[in-house]
Amino acid sequence: MLADALREVSETLYSAAAAAGCNPPVLVAVSKLQPATAIAELAAAGQRDFGENYVQEALRKRQELEAAGVAVPLTWHLIGHLQGNKAREAAVAFDWVQSVDRPSIAAALARHRPADREPLNVLLQVNVDDESSKHGCHPDEVPALAAAVAAEPTLRLRGLMISPAPWPDLEARRPAFRAAKQLFDALRAAHPGVDTLSMGMSDDYLLALGEGATMVRIGSALFGARPPRAT
Ligand SMILES: *Cc1c(COP(=O)(O)O)cnc(C)c1O
Repeated sequence: MLADALREVSETLYSAAAAAGCNPPVLVAVSKLQPATAIAELAAAGQRDFGENYVQEALRKRQELEAAGVAVPLTWHLIGHLQGNKAREAAVAFDWVQSVDRPSIAAALARHRPADREPLNVLLQVNVDDESSKHGCHPDEVPALAAAVAAEPTLRLRGLMISPAPWPDLEARRPAFRAAKQLFDALRAAHPGVDTLSMGMSDDYLLALGEGATMVRIGSALFGARPPRAT
């Protein structure tokens, strides 16, 4: 029962936020590799924000949901690495892109976001500590990338997305969350519209919340284990 998992995660988030004296974070349900039927089930239980990693997979599932008559308006977040040749589709299909990590992808999204739509919400993906990851900009690059996004009328700069290196010892991830919060506060001082710090996944979202997350991205704790990706 996905509705039960959703209730459990939501209640955990609410009580942790109350204990920390902060607002409950936005919960993004990460549905990558999960079937459209699972998304429909969570949507029926009241979940509105969904995160996908792959543009083509997201487009296919959106069509399946439409064909199945799922009528509630959902908010779609791209959280996976975005290749330049997918920017046109991503700029149309998503409400948020959380993985903007270079000026060229910001420019491509801006160019392809239709001017008659709401601006595309953008988070800058920053690599605070994971040297094994090729994705995410360096912390020093944040001010210039933020300025580039803020200058585009079809984009709306909302904040930062980070994923710490997946240390098995959760406590070892805390410095990355702290560093992200500092970057976020500096960004917010420079750009008043910034309001979103996206960090925390199934195994570390409470830690991230305690360090200032305003949005968490949760997959397996909601949907159960992911099926393997077809190759
Ligand atoms: C898959 C993924 C998640 C969710 O991971 P879980 O451990 O299943 O909660 C969150 N963020 C990103 C960027 C992901 O790729």
